[in-house]
Amino acid sequence: MRAVRIVCPTCKKVLEDVPPDFPPRPFCSPRCKLSDLDNWLSERYVTSQPLPPAGFDEDEHLH
Ligand SMILES: [Zn+2]
Repeated sequence: MRAVRIVCPTCKKVLEDVPPDFPPRPFCSPRCKLSDLDNWLSERYVTSQPLPPAGFDEDEHLH
């Protein structure tokens, strides 16, 4: 198996001579892998949030 060079998408660290079966690829470590996943999930969570109901003004008009 040939070693490869990877650049961690999370911390931009360059790793030389990484074995092809390096578990956290393309990240430099399991921590960076989890960090990237956390970022992705939190961004997705935020963008999928419904807008808060703008009901205060309408309530005032009704009364
Ligand atoms: Zn990293």
